[in-house]
Amino acid sequence: MEIKILGSHGSIFKNMKSTCIQLSEKTLIDAGNIIEGLGKDCIKIDNILLTHAHLDHIIDIAFLIDFTFKERTKPLNIYGHKETLDALKNHIMNWDIWPEFSSIRLLKTSDYAINYIDIKPGRSFNLEDMKIYPYESNHSVKALSYIIYRGDRAILFTGDTYKNSKTWEIVNKDSRIKAVITDVSFPSYMDDIALASKHNTPETLKEDMENLKREDIKIYAMHIKPFCYNEVTQEIEEKLPHITVLKDGDYINV
Ligand SMILES: [Zn+2]
Ligand SMILES: [Zn+2]
Repeated sequence: MEIKILGSHGSIFKNMKSTCIQLSEKTLIDAGNIIEGLGKDCIKIDNILLTHAHLDHIIDIAFLIDFTFKERTKPLNIYGHKETLDALKNHIMNWDIWPEFSSIRLLKTSDYAINYIDIKPGRSFNLEDMKIYPYESNHSVKALSYIIYRGDRAILFTGDTYKNSKTWEIVNKDSRIKAVITDVSFPSYMDDIALASKHNTPETLKEDMENLKREDIKIYAMHIKPFCYNEVTQEIEEKLPHITVLKDGDYINV
């Protein structure tokens, strides 16, 4: 299976895009870089799986639905935890910040433009040719990690998280998982802000990975904050040399 990293950072800066992973022509995890990442192909997107409601993960939902509204023949399906969807509905897509597209009908059909789909941690579901298994990450708001299964292979994306032994318990038991993509946001000396905001540093990821018992798995880091990008990549190179830092536009094949 192949996925594309449209955005790999924990915020936005020139030539640095925020979290967005393309699973297929129609389906994304998170919405940090849809418009620039896909250009006109963004019209093909039908499904977005949200990890959580922080701005760097949802921002392009607003611009995607705006740009594609006139041509859409199907609603845009937004999957997420109930708390994530409530945050989006109550604080962003509420007419105050952006239109409430879930109450606006498309021009080409009678469907509403956005369809919210509430998903539960621990309950898998099918989407296109994939099976998706969501579980709770360890973040400052309710947030999901996702395992994406295609055939007999899988990729686990933790989304934003601090240490979470559950990830490694799952990986140890399930040999179908061939790659883990996880959060390293700050350098280790910023451990106070990392703990308060529930993100990993190279040190906390290293500690957490002591729970990993497999050697046949590829580990990738992303979500580095642009203001400390060089510090974090250098620290990962020194302390976690077997981990690959993802860049915008990278592909992962397993
Ligand atoms: Zn984030
Ligand atoms: Zn977050």
